[in-house]
Amino acid sequence: MRTARCLDNLPPYLFARIDAKRAAIEATGADVISLGIGDPDMPTPEHVVDAMARAIRDPKNHRYPDYAGSPEFRRACADYMSRRFGVSVDPEREVLALIGSKEGIAHLVTAFVDPGEYVLAPSIGYPVYSGGATLMSANAYFMPMKEENGFLADFSNIPADALAKAKIMFIGYPNNPTGAVATEEYFDRAIAFCREHDLLLAHDNAYWDICFDGYRAPSILERPGAKDVCIEFFSLSKPYNMTGWRIGWACGNETAVQALGTVKNNLDSGQFTAVQEAAIAALSGPQDCVGEMRRLYERRRDEIVGALRGVGMACNAPKATIYVWAKVPEGETSESFATKLLEEAHVVVTPGNGYGPDGEGFIRISLTTPDDKLLEAVRRIERLRR
Ligand SMILES: *Cc1c(COP(=O)(O)O)cnc(C)c1O
Repeated sequence: MRTARCLDNLPPYLFARIDAKRAAIEATGADVISLGIGDPDMPTPEHVVDAMARAIRDPKNHRYPDYAGSPEFRRACADYMSRRFGVSVDPEREVLALIGSKEGIAHLVTAFVDPGEYVLAPSIGYPVYSGGATLMSANAYFMPMKEENGFLADFSNIPADALAKAKIMFIGYPNNPTGAVATEEYFDRAIAFCREHDLLLAHDNAYWDICFDGYRAPSILERPGAKDVCIEFFSLSKPYNMTGWRIGWACGNETAVQALGTVKNNLDSGQFTAVQEAAIAALSGPQDCVGEMRRLYERRRDEIVGALRGVGMACNAPKATIYVWAKVPEGETSESFATKLLEEAHVVVTPGNGYGPDGEGFIRISLTTPDDKLLEAVRRIERLRR
């Protein structure tokens, strides 16, 4: 049996070697602490679970959902965009429910990119941007992303051939995995560039509500003219501890939203309406749960940043996201240092090169580990480097 050639072109799972070592160490009975996964450890807020419990008992929700999302869900998303960002989107034409934003990001490529064409993806980033292209037998050009430029993806030197064949530019700030945030000026330049080169600008805004030190992350749709070229992706996964529920939305440019909807109409039949009702409760209900979570992550961030600096490792305290992105010590690579932490401290971190070429020389530490485990991991890191 012969599977599609594009499957062979997907990159190998880069964390496989670390995973195998971890399994071997755990088999000896050692207690391994994982700071590797970006998946909130706290439960979904109670009022959201209650809304789901009510919705699941309503027989009207047992039938096929509205493919684009229920009118009520899309209205709640549009109201949220207006309240939180001052952005106006038409819930009927410019908002689409997603089965998690990963799904929407991957299918956006199906909606815009033909075989042999290009997406422009950040060279340190969420693997779905380029993976979606590979699955379409298309290509990814990786835009350099350097620390000296604040980890803002650089689109100023894209080779003419790739640019001519490019259809979508992906960016995402606050950024996974670097924790970097974008300036308004950067967004404006990206919008102008995409307008000039007839590209769709896709902004992945998964961490807009997980911000620290008083920072407030914008929507790219706040920028003038953004709706002419931009689609933006939002997910309830991180701000409401809902990774398992699979719900998010895309909004922005009508042509882009409708094209993505057409792809989805042919592939899925929408998200369970009861999940959408729970999401309405999350977006429209009290937001103190999000504030509490911000404080929790901020405290964990400070513990990790303090521990890393204490052992001489350079890292910025991120203004947003659930990650600390740290430079590995002199003489180490991402993988050698991640291996050392695993073998000598029994702590799992993610090697930065797994996120793309410019991630080499860094590790990513996730803040979604319960406090006692996180503190124990910090103690082990401190012992290791003394
Ligand atoms: C977690 C995350 C998402 C959201 O994924 P869902 O499919 O909505 O759970 C999207 N983009 C990035 C960069 C992420 O880290």
